[in-house]
Amino acid sequence: TNAYIAAVEAARPLNAFITETPDIALEQAKASDARYAKGEARPLDGMPMGIKDLFCTKGVLTTAASHILDGFKPTYESTITENLFRDGTVMLGKLNLDEFAMGSANITSYYGPVLNPWTAKDPAGAERKLVPGGSSGGSAASVSGRFAIAATGTDTGGSIRQPASFTGIVGCKPTYGRCSRWGTIAFASSLDQAGPMTRTVRDAALMLQSMAGFDPKDSTSVDMKMPDLLASLTGDIRGLRVGIPREYRVDGMPAEIERVWQQGIDWLKEAGATPVEVSLPHTKYALATYYVVAPAECSSNLARYDGVRFGLRVEGKDLAEMYENTRGEGFGKEVRRRILIGTYVLSAGYYDAYYLKAQKVRARIAEDFAKAFEQCDILLTPTAPSTAFAIGEKQDDPIAMYLNDVFTVPASLAGLPGISVPAGLASDGLPLGLQLIGRPFDEETLLRVAEVME
Ligand code: GLN
Repeated sequence: TNAYIAAVEAARPLNAFITETPDIALEQAKASDARYAKGEARPLDGMPMGIKDLFCTKGVLTTAASHILDGFKPTYESTITENLFRDGTVMLGKLNLDEFAMGSANITSYYGPVLNPWTAKDPAGAERKLVPGGSSGGSAASVSGRFAIAATGTDTGGSIRQPASFTGIVGCKPTYGRCSRWGTIAFASSLDQAGPMTRTVRDAALMLQSMAGFDPKDSTSVDMKMPDLLASLTGDIRGLRVGIPREYRVDGMPAEIERVWQQGIDWLKEAGATPVEVSLPHTKYALATYYVVAPAECSSNLARYDGVRFGLRVEGKDLAEMYENTRGEGFGKEVRRRILIGTYVLSAGYYDAYYLKAQKVRARIAEDFAKAFEQCDILLTPTAPSTAFAIGEKQDDPIAMYLNDVFTVPASLAGLPGISVPAGLASDGLPLGLQLIGRPFDEETLLRVAEVME
């Protein structure tokens, strides 16, 4: 723990942590030592991890990387952190993210951008600083940069899987309902899922085992027995049918991504699996559907930040002006854009044309997957359409930014488990990930195949 605390300090230029908690870490490490000495060690005892600053931690500043939560110290613990602490996790601190987890590059944080530990050279030979992906950018940077053993992430439309791909680590989004959302600051409640970001698939299995499980405090938490995830890592995928969705060969996809995808197919074939081409015909509507559903839910969830109950208050001459001042100053540009889009698509007169339509398409997308899983056991796709890009790139073009999510949002809309596994380096010397998508609640197959690919 001491070594990790020092590593966290040394990595400050990457801006991965919003709050460092070395005192809590040392206290938790001592408790781990004591249990260990008594022969009562728990599965995660002494593991120094980072916690995305979207999880409420009792008595510890929790910001969602937003100005509006200034000074907010929750009086309760999120179920995810409670589960991790129960099993011995040591918390190094709270990790930076896109404001309220809205973004794909960790550049919308009130606390400034996070840098990817990986860098690239531009044609002139100068070093380019890269984004770590987002929204779990601090989590990805801390694990990739080796100043946390693992980190928690959340994934609404790709925020665990895409940064994992950009930083060369493993990131797993479990099935919707596996991990409790209680005490996790809400972005889009029908999509939000917590998951592990780790160096290896085995670590992801170990960590998810602790994070997941039924929680009566979350009405969408699923009351199902958790399988033994470590036991599922048998290394044997013989006879498994791996679906390759035709529609993921999107126009303009770099040849590089295509090559890595093919390589992934070959690896699984060599291990005894059979690739089968499948069709997910509504894939092309997924991004548009997501960017109606997610902002709609966010506009509703973020209504609670009114200057009265949490964090920042900017006074005004009356209550209405205080609301306006607080929300105008407290939310960043991207969050305000999403609230406006969400309010628009939910408003009377537009609801049927946008929100209701999006919900119907969402059902079609889920049906596509259910049909595909009649022909295969798991799907293999790229995680993201590019490697990490430079800080500043795509910054003023929200549509270009949203396109990052083209491969991750379909599984989110269908609530399916997904994982991004490192698949080598692209010609620019940067890591690329491949995504596996599993049947609902079949994290066992997901992790088993992921481990074979690693
Ligand atoms: N990039 C997507 C968005 O901006 C996904 C974010 C997430 O998964 N939290 O909404």
